[in-house]
Amino acid sequence: MEKITKPSGQSKTSKSSATSTKPQSRKSSKTVTFTASSERGYHTYNLDSDCPRKFFYRYLRLLRPKFSAPALPFGSAFHEGKAEYYRTWKAKQALEKAEHYIIEHRSEYRDEDVYYMQRERVVVLLSRWIQHVGADDRRRFDFIGIELSLDYPVPKLKKYRQTCRIDALARERSGEKRVLILETKTSGRSAQLTMDGVVLGDQISMYCYMASKYLGEPVNWALPDVAYWNTGSFNPANISFHRPSGLIYRSKEDIIDFEEGLRQHMVELAQRKKAYESGVPLSITFRRNTTYCVSYGHTCEYAHLCRKGFSDVGQPELIKVTRSKDGFIDETDVTI
Ligand code: SF4
Repeated sequence: MEKITKPSGQSKTSKSSATSTKPQSRKSSKTVTFTASSERGYHTYNLDSDCPRKFFYRYLRLLRPKFSAPALPFGSAFHEGKAEYYRTWKAKQALEKAEHYIIEHRSEYRDEDVYYMQRERVVVLLSRWIQHVGADDRRRFDFIGIELSLDYPVPKLKKYRQTCRIDALARERSGEKRVLILETKTSGRSAQLTMDGVVLGDQISMYCYMASKYLGEPVNWALPDVAYWNTGSFNPANISFHRPSGLIYRSKEDIIDFEEGLRQHMVELAQRKKAYESGVPLSITFRRNTTYCVSYGHTCEYAHLCRKGFSDVGQPELIKVTRSKDGFIDETDVTI
């Protein structure tokens, strides 16, 4: 596998400005192997919008928490099981698939009690979802793609490709027979906030953009659902499922807006990365956005690196990861 030279070591965030001294190159002979093409997905540059410094630690320093937040394998297990149900319409098989995912990812759990609890919870939540949502979807839709992985170049960028995996792409059986993005979220805190995030965010715009390329026809509609179960509750009576009263619509203009924004973002990101490698300080290239230091009920996993003097007690253990040569962003990917 081809090796790529990447910057290494802790940043030397200098007090001097980039223009007052000749920048010293941070390129080194250290090599890393990249592995994840999924790192060209929506969440990646969305993170840069949230906090460029966090993006820097995650995607350029390649530092990740050793253990996942429990919500991550849980959500993935639920999606695996749901996809199995859409593919086979066999509930038992779908439930086994979901539980098996948790078993396979046992090493990601720091706490064994949480591991066992989630094995049970995912089966209970998914069985209710099948009963209340999945069975209805079976009657309403013809499925075009399930867990549909797409990968397309972004126009006007030389090599950069956008990737995504759509939960399900389906056509209505009756009425206008529209093609819809079916998107499920699991939530343990607030179903309403989770739904608002889907409606307001650009993930659906990106899915419409990618699905339109895949089908060669406009895809403008999405039907999300939120499977809610309060994280602190063991009582299945607290489970509820939420779908908006109407479909989410993304107009042609929304999709163009997304595509142009993506392109502009990637160009800027590549320029900032290049500037950083040439010695321009982090305070300019990957600045802090402290709005997100505490969000989604968690303190940022990089806070002890980012804020001098912030205690690392209770902070997650970080490990260095690798990725393949076509992993996320290289300046040559976005040279126009
Ligand atoms: S601690 Fe705050 S500013 Fe620093 S990387 Fe995390 S979110 Fe960004």
